[in-house]
Amino acid sequence: MIIAIDGPSGAGKSTLGKMLARELDLLYLDTGAMYRAGALAVLRAGISFEDETGVAEAITAASIHLTGNSENLTVLLDGEDITAEIRTLEVAQAASRVSTNSAVRRRMVELQREMGERAERGCVLEGRDIGSVVFPNADVKFFLTAEPAARARRRFEEDKGKGRTSTFEQTLAEINERDERDVSRDDSPLQIPEGSEVIDTSELDLDEVFEQMLAVIRERKSAAA
Ligand code: C5P
Repeated sequence: MIIAIDGPSGAGKSTLGKMLARELDLLYLDTGAMYRAGALAVLRAGISFEDETGVAEAITAASIHLTGNSENLTVLLDGEDITAEIRTLEVAQAASRVSTNSAVRRRMVELQREMGERAERGCVLEGRDIGSVVFPNADVKFFLTAEPAARARRRFEEDKGKGRTSTFEQTLAEINERDERDVSRDDSPLQIPEGSEVIDTSELDLDEVFEQMLAVIRERKSAAA
């Protein structure tokens, strides 16, 4: 079973994706972490984002791996554990910039399909192009969204919990900038994939969204049986 979750930053994709993977015993793939890992490779190599060929070469040459399970996902870049290092604002912005590069996207989509298809019981993938490009035939597709202020509030609280010191206004601006780039890029822009279940999480708590998602999955499973 393949479950695709798309949506803008801070809509709850990661938390809910992990909850679903745990509940249904599926592999969990955080595809944003892969773009972040590629972005870190570019930052470390000192390559300018304007240098499209350089960016594509650096990312294609890098070995990017996700290991572990939904509780404990580890991101490896050329064998080094970079799980914590990719969670900075700088890497988030860099990820959104390198993700406009078509050669980079092709490489990531290829890796994601390989990992998803290899997963014995199936996989939950979350990102910005899963239901539209990576797995357009996914068994269930979700598009999670929420008002920008609600998404920024969540991200801000999450960051505060991790000891980071940006203000709410900075978080909101950062999210808006990335979302704008993600929806307006030419290659695989963030969009509501055809056939997806759209859930606005602004006014819902986590458990309510989780229950809604599970209900949709059960419904689809019984319809397919
Ligand atoms: O989800 P996360 O915030 O970690 O993603 C970082 C960036 O990677 C996003 O802002 C987006 O530009 C890019 N991305 C993408 N396609 C995906 C996942 C992430 O373009 N499937």
